[in-house]
Amino acid sequence: MNNLEIRDNRLYFDGCDTTELAEKFGTPVYVMSYSEIMRRINELKEQFTEKYPSSRIAYASKAFCTTGMYEILKKAGACIDVVSGGELYAAQQVDFPAECVEFNGNNKLPEEIDQAVSYGVGRIILDGLQEIELIEAACKKYQKKMNIMVRITPGVAASTHDYIVTGKKDSKFGIPLVEEIFLPVIEQVVDSEYLEFVGLHMHIGSQLFENDAYLQALDVLMDWVARIKDEFNVTVKEVNFGGGYGVTYTDEERKPYSFFMDPMMERLQKRSEEIGIPCPVAVIEPGRSVVAEAGITLYKVGQIKEIPGVRKYVSVDGGMGDNIRVALYQAEYKGIVANKAEEPLEETVSLCGKYCESGDILIPEMKIPSSVEQGDIIAVLSTGAYGYTMASNYNNNPIPGVVLVKEGKAAWMVKPQTYDQIIQNHVIPDFI
Ligand SMILES: *Cc1c(COP(=O)(O)O)cnc(C)c1O
Repeated sequence: MNNLEIRDNRLYFDGCDTTELAEKFGTPVYVMSYSEIMRRINELKEQFTEKYPSSRIAYASKAFCTTGMYEILKKAGACIDVVSGGELYAAQQVDFPAECVEFNGNNKLPEEIDQAVSYGVGRIILDGLQEIELIEAACKKYQKKMNIMVRITPGVAASTHDYIVTGKKDSKFGIPLVEEIFLPVIEQVVDSEYLEFVGLHMHIGSQLFENDAYLQALDVLMDWVARIKDEFNVTVKEVNFGGGYGVTYTDEERKPYSFFMDPMMERLQKRSEEIGIPCPVAVIEPGRSVVAEAGITLYKVGQIKEIPGVRKYVSVDGGMGDNIRVALYQAEYKGIVANKAEEPLEETVSLCGKYCESGDILIPEMKIPSSVEQGDIIAVLSTGAYGYTMASNYNNNPIPGVVLVKEGKAAWMVKPQTYDQIIQNHVIPDFI
């Protein structure tokens, strides 16, 4: 996999010996490769923003959100998609250009909307009727006009895990495409003195490898672009296709961005010509595909338990607290013993964590060398997306730190949490 190499029986990641990283920074630890992140950003530029001028990417922060990541994106000239006051707050800490921030979310809180309007974000993606009033109130308070995208539920079922399908009809995301609901929303936005209607947004799911669902959803979206023109004589200037581009965890074959974008752009151009409008600006929101393969997690082996005739458990010092995706979506990962990277894989074991849940398994069936013993370092691959950002303090285990590596250099991007930080907000009420 990308930026991984084996030298003298050891696993290297972006030029760094991972066994040495584990010794120096401790385990468990997330390691992110700067070179791999940049490779993906450059692919997005070559295959999308430079190929289709005036298009833009808005990286979906929720995949991996740290101030360092925002700094990388800011320097690369990318925009970001945020879904909470907390993500926006982190972006504000690096002075992320406000016009390059797009604010998504199916239940934006009044104080989050206030924060977004006050900062002057570039787009608010409207995801419900009641939001309109909240945005208008904040606009009035700050005397600002906000650019509004309206998120639709295109009613297509993308083939992926149920929990990451977001575009089917029965969804908590987006505005249903029912005439009596949808058209009044558009009308209200168009008529508002505080809102500037810019266009339509969709996001149909995640970890997708085919573009048929995207194209179907785009067709639905464009039908409504035509309808909006007919009803209100308003031109949709921008369309946002969302994210969802699949990555390699185990055997999946990652498709280049152009596999998705070329047919989408061709269809977009064709449909806008038919409707008789200039081709709208296209925006995509890749998250996972930018960072998943740019991350690995390093663990240290502790207890090894053999249940004769049943199974062998190899336990590591992390687990579901740093990677909930296995328990949550039955996600699959590949792992490798970082300090025995060339040894033959003679045994199949269950790689499990240290958390008090039987479901705390990282890799149910992992092939490893039979020499594996306490103190060995295990690297779980492709953990850069939705690992750190979904981490929890379950069992009061600290959230691991994140080390950024680049061509042999390594430095903290997030320091590991301490016990004091876990309990710093605990209070003992005086009536106990
Ligand atoms: C999660 C999400 C994304 C990113 O999806 P990936 O699969 O990580 O690319 C983009 N847009 C919206 C609105 C999302 O909710």
